[in-house]
Amino acid sequence: TADTNKKHCNLKVVLLGDSSVGKSSLAARYIVGKFQKSNATIGAAFMTKNIQLDDNKDVTLELWDTAGQERYRSLTPMYYRGTDVAIIVYDITSPISLSHAEDWIEELRSYVDTERRSDLRIILAANKSDLLEEGYKQPEELRNNKFNDFVVVSAKTGEGINILFEGITNNIPDEM
Ligand code: GDP
Repeated sequence: TADTNKKHCNLKVVLLGDSSVGKSSLAARYIVGKFQKSNATIGAAFMTKNIQLDDNKDVTLELWDTAGQERYRSLTPMYYRGTDVAIIVYDITSPISLSHAEDWIEELRSYVDTERRSDLRIILAANKSDLLEEGYKQPEELRNNKFNDFVVVSAKTGEGINILFEGITNNIPDEM
């Protein structure tokens, strides 16, 4: 039957970035608000959302939030282990948080197993777009190949949230 052919996969997505850039707010905005057919569970380490991709495939997205540990740069190896997608968040009104974005990428790469590094997807999310009146452009210094995608978002207004997460769930490799 169609059911026995059904494919299921788990996708581990971690949020990284300085304290107060809006990681928890983005997680809440996505988990609580987006898909109608979703089951959101607030757990100690991560939240999950079940997404029906098409008739034959569904995905459980595990969204990991730092729970404030990033303040002391003390994220544990377990936080990084098995990451499929990392969302590096910075606050567009905080140049310091932007300047730390690459440090977070380096730290992430240092923890992810060598053989998985080429599969790792890194997305840079510029949060709090509602705080700027004009459109926000990708900063010059970020025009390099250290990440796969760049998305401007606002956890407050919801701008870019669908683009960010649909970009993740629509780009799951076939072998998963
Ligand atoms: P975290 O420490 O990275 O998890 O950041 P939080 O989610 O706790 O957010 C830090 C602060 O920024 C809180 O006061 C949020 O209300 C605020 N914040 C988060 N996202 C946005 C946003 O998109 N726009 C605005 N204006 N404020 C935001």
